[in-house]
Amino acid sequence: MALIIDGKKISKDIKDELKEKVAKLKQEGKTAALAVIQVGEDPASSVYVNNKKKACEYIGIESLSFHFPETITEEELLDKIKELNEDEKVNGILVQLPLPKHIDEDKVIKTITPEKDVDGFHPQSVGALSIGQKGFVSCTPAGVIQLLKRSGIEIAGKECVVIGRSNIVGKPMALLLLRENGTVTIAHSKTANLKEVAKRADILVVAVGKPKMIDSSYVKEGAVVIDVGIHRNAENKLCGDVDYDDVIDHVSAITPVPGGVGPMTIAMLMSNCVSSIE
Ligand code: NDP
Repeated sequence: MALIIDGKKISKDIKDELKEKVAKLKQEGKTAALAVIQVGEDPASSVYVNNKKKACEYIGIESLSFHFPETITEEELLDKIKELNEDEKVNGILVQLPLPKHIDEDKVIKTITPEKDVDGFHPQSVGALSIGQKGFVSCTPAGVIQLLKRSGIEIAGKECVVIGRSNIVGKPMALLLLRENGTVTIAHSKTANLKEVAKRADILVVAVGKPKMIDSSYVKEGAVVIDVGIHRNAENKLCGDVDYDDVIDHVSAITPVPGGVGPMTIAMLMSNCVSSIE
């Protein structure tokens, strides 16, 4: 029987550990505040922003909300970020993506000081990860590592295949698996013989952004499958990039959607906020 990796429980455990840490830090007179910036009224962004605020409240971090209309200029947004960079009370700055088309996301990411880059998207944070130095790590891939470790799944020496090479998931995921001494392959839309490559994996991480694309023909018998994807299907139900029902009898462990990787992203954001105080 496959192990169903319970991201809800693991993320709750992490948040409870962080809550304790934050309480101890408070006794030492150290407090934390996360600045959350939202632009426009995208409903999905509002849900994410609210969930982040709730998580802050749960673990005892203050969240400072800045909600701007869609019409805010790039310069005004960058000025706000610069002001928050200088604000000693603020430990972390998060700008909810995507931003309206007239604002350059890269410029926004680069303007956040790396010391407060709790999303781990700044080029300096990414660079630090790639050369094995300290820095904030992108939350979703960091969450995947926690899921594996806390489920007792060994990474060192394993064949790890990551399908997807985005800057926020695929690439940092591959770097983190390498840091854990996995033997790592990154596959993408130009990869030849994707099925053969994927079938090499002891640990297959799928971040391809295509609903249910990965079925059992991509999965080695007994592999661990981590499904980062998240989509709503025609019946408005959530599903991942992996065809769960088709692969379940072939895997030794798997993350479900929902309840797998999803809840980990916010837990790791909170973890980054706490390390920014420490
Ligand atoms: P992107 O669309 O940025 O990247 C998708 C990657 O998949 C690209 O590198 C692309 O290759 C590759 N790809 C696309 N089609 C194929 C194919 N047919 N064969 C092989 N590779 C292919 O997505 P993200 O990385 O941002 O997200 C991936 C998934 O994870 C999405 O479903 C997203 O919703 C989800 N997600 C979930 C999060 C969570 O908290 N659970 C957080 C972030 C994302 P190429 O580079 O060649 O174009």
